[in-house]
Amino acid sequence: MADVVVVGAGVIGLATAWHLAGDGADVAVLDAGPLGGQSSRAAAGILGPLAESRDDGPRTRLFWDSWVAFPDWVDALREDSAIDPEFEPTGILRQVAAAEREDLKVSLAWRRQYSPEVEWLDDADPDWPAAIWSPHEGQIRGPAYVAALAQADAARGVDIRLGEPARRIRVDQSQVVAVDTPRQSVPTSTAVLAAGAWAGGLLPHAEPLPVLPVRGQALALKAARPPFPHVVFGPAGYLAPKRDGQVVVGATEDAAAGFDARVTFAGIAALADVVRSMSPELLPLPFDGAWAGLRPATPDGRPLLGPWPGIGGLIIAAGHYRNGLLLSPITAHIVRALVRGETPAVDLTPFRPDRFHRTH
Ligand SMILES: Cc1cc2nc3c(=O)[nH]c(=O)nc-3n(C[C@H](O)[C@H](O)[C@H](O)COP(=O)(O)OP(=O)(O)OC[C@H]3O[C@@H](n4cnc5c(N)ncnc54)[C@H](O)[C@@H]3O)c2cc1C
Repeated sequence: MADVVVVGAGVIGLATAWHLAGDGADVAVLDAGPLGGQSSRAAAGILGPLAESRDDGPRTRLFWDSWVAFPDWVDALREDSAIDPEFEPTGILRQVAAAEREDLKVSLAWRRQYSPEVEWLDDADPDWPAAIWSPHEGQIRGPAYVAALAQADAARGVDIRLGEPARRIRVDQSQVVAVDTPRQSVPTSTAVLAAGAWAGGLLPHAEPLPVLPVRGQALALKAARPPFPHVVFGPAGYLAPKRDGQVVVGATEDAAAGFDARVTFAGIAALADVVRSMSPELLPLPFDGAWAGLRPATPDGRPLLGPWPGIGGLIIAAGHYRNGLLLSPITAHIVRALVRGETPAVDLTPFRPDRFHRTH
């Protein structure tokens, strides 16, 4: 028996469970695999509400609202976990290629509506004649953040059950009554579907949600100390220097790989090109590993957030694509408001989980 059953122990499920447990709710988290999610374990940790946006719109506003929530979120996390997530609001530099110069220059207008201090730099670097400096963005250490959330969940008494895939969200008379795994049935009146790229097939009585995996590969180099103090974006990827000198190089996008989460030689070659084009002086550094994850993507790039219409107690929190770490605080705030029967602070219309369904 649980007040809320969260399906998926990735960053979205763990963040949501922790926030709900803060209200005293009895929360269980079920996951098919090990702790920490699938895509979540692969994340570079970039918190780039503007760097990750090509234009203004509801998705950018959601990114920004989540970014603004991050400092308080991390402070609260520190009270429940001894693991330092290495939150660093140290800004993001974006190198501007000649072909994107005009578009990016025009984009300064909307970027400055969020952050007036965004600057256009000419002659920033001999190899990169133009750049955008955005001081109010940053990063976190992906694996440490996920581990901190898991520890914080335990501190608040969240019951995390690993190796327990949800097979079915059971509904009776249009109301969630239980979540079934192959070994048990957990009675509950509220289920939060946060199963990342696997969320699609778990919807009761409806066509699958259109969440598809997009493989992302990343690798790391190891320097003696961080080679620069902030994240750098380029036209084909990014470099994220971590406190211990690790530099995460990301990331490929490969929708054709389906659910294949292996690292490929072509992926490593593409990431080597990112380093070569952005910061060739890093090429002699030792290799510090490569990995891949399956980002949960939706057809319009926006997450699926909100109650599922027609089924009481079913809440969808999936499809966070490239930005699940960034969006974890706002997602948790939204789900908490819905569970409490309150109106979320964010207008959920652009994120309605049923927007691709014929009945909508
Ligand atoms: C290379 C790479 C770099 C990235 N970098 C960043 C970044 O810098 N910043 C950022 O914000 N985001 C980044 N992302 C995206 C981010 O990782 C995702 O948006 C985020 O992890 C999605 O979280 P999730 O919890 O929805 O999914 P996941 O982490 O995939 O978790 C879903 C969980 O559901 C479980 N599950 C599946 N089926 C079932 C079932 N039937 N029952 C129970 N559990 C089930 C899975 O085992 C998994 O643990 C990156 C992704 C990749 C691949």
